Amino acid sequence: MERIPVSGPWITKKEIDYVTDAVTNAWYGNANMYHVRFEPAFAAYVGRRYAIALPSCTSALHLSLLSAGVGPGDEVIVPDITWIATSAPISYVGATPAFADIDARSWCLDVRSFEATITPKTKAVIVVNLYGNMPEMDGILDVAERHGIAVIEDAAESIGSEYKDKKAGSFGLASAFSFHGSKTLTTGEGGMLLTDDKDFYDRCRYLADHGRKPGDKAFYNAEVAYKYKMSSMQAALGLAQLERVDELVTRKREIFSWYHQALSKMEGLRLNSEAPDVKNTYWMVTGIVDASLSVTKEQLIIEMAKSNIDCRPFFYPLSSLPAYSHLPQSEQARSRNTVAYDISPFALNLPSGLNLTRDDVACVCDNLLALICSSSGACI
Ligand SMILES: *Cc1c(COP(=O)(O)O)cnc(C)c1O
Repeated sequence: MERIPVSGPWITKKEIDYVTDAVTNAWYGNANMYHVRFEPAFAAYVGRRYAIALPSCTSALHLSLLSAGVGPGDEVIVPDITWIATSAPISYVGATPAFADIDARSWCLDVRSFEATITPKTKAVIVVNLYGNMPEMDGILDVAERHGIAVIEDAAESIGSEYKDKKAGSFGLASAFSFHGSKTLTTGEGGMLLTDDKDFYDRCRYLADHGRKPGDKAFYNAEVAYKYKMSSMQAALGLAQLERVDELVTRKREIFSWYHQALSKMEGLRLNSEAPDVKNTYWMVTGIVDASLSVTKEQLIIEMAKSNIDCRPFFYPLSSLPAYSHLPQSEQARSRNTVAYDISPFALNLPSGLNLTRDDVACVCDNLLALICSSSGACI
């Protein structure tokens, strides 16, 4: 039996044609021919004014923190459950992350825990739309405004998701998307920074190009900055994917519905949720096994791999990682963030690649049910 991968893209002739055109023609005076199409089209899709195509979501978050004026001595709040790319840029700018708990249903930043994590040093919060779900954005924006904290949205996993009919990536001062090969819309590697603020946008553009004014031909730099740029081939791939984004998002939701039909009646297993005012795009279909069944995510991943099924662990709390073991903020989080610490040991991401067939999903579900069944004795 072939291996069932945990994630992966959906590439058609359109993508191949656009990339072929870019590698053939996007040179000399046409070097930016795909950037000038991809960036405004992406901004329009999300409902933002400005977009900058970048080599990664990590670089988009780095530029956002720099342009928001975050630096040494500042704290930035992140949810304890996310990929470290959300928080690593906080260290790049010399600031310190602080880890707030997640909500038990959305698995995104919990509003009350966010507010409780604020200190006089807090300068910004990076909200994460985990696995395609959305946090309670109204509450978060309200707390941030009352405390004068900048909101940056890590929308890496949530292209096409919505909160109260507004698209993921349209909230706060700035937002960041990832087009890594595992993400719903991919350019292989890549990212996008979005904002509605002209000054902020100008500052990001400038910092992304070694501190050059746009259009600078004199190679005359006012500041030491960074070199963050997407290639034309990536921009071409991104534009082709964007023109198919509704198809990509619909397929993601369809894959989730296959899992939901097969697994939702299983006692002791919980899947991704979708609140009434949210559209979840299910970047990763995720199952949480009841703690009472005493089967950990690590055990499940090993067993599933024996049947050629790739799964991934639900993220470990950032505050539990060796990378952050030296921080007093981690110690606090370890005692406070009970939801993150209760869920994480028993949750895993199931295969969610866009190439999955209904038979693949049936095979994954049969294996998972058999495992839970044999470890719990509670078969249906
Ligand atoms: C994938 C991901 C990133 C990082 O994206 P890159 O393009 O690899 O830098 C950031 N945050 C979250 C939540 C992600 O899932």
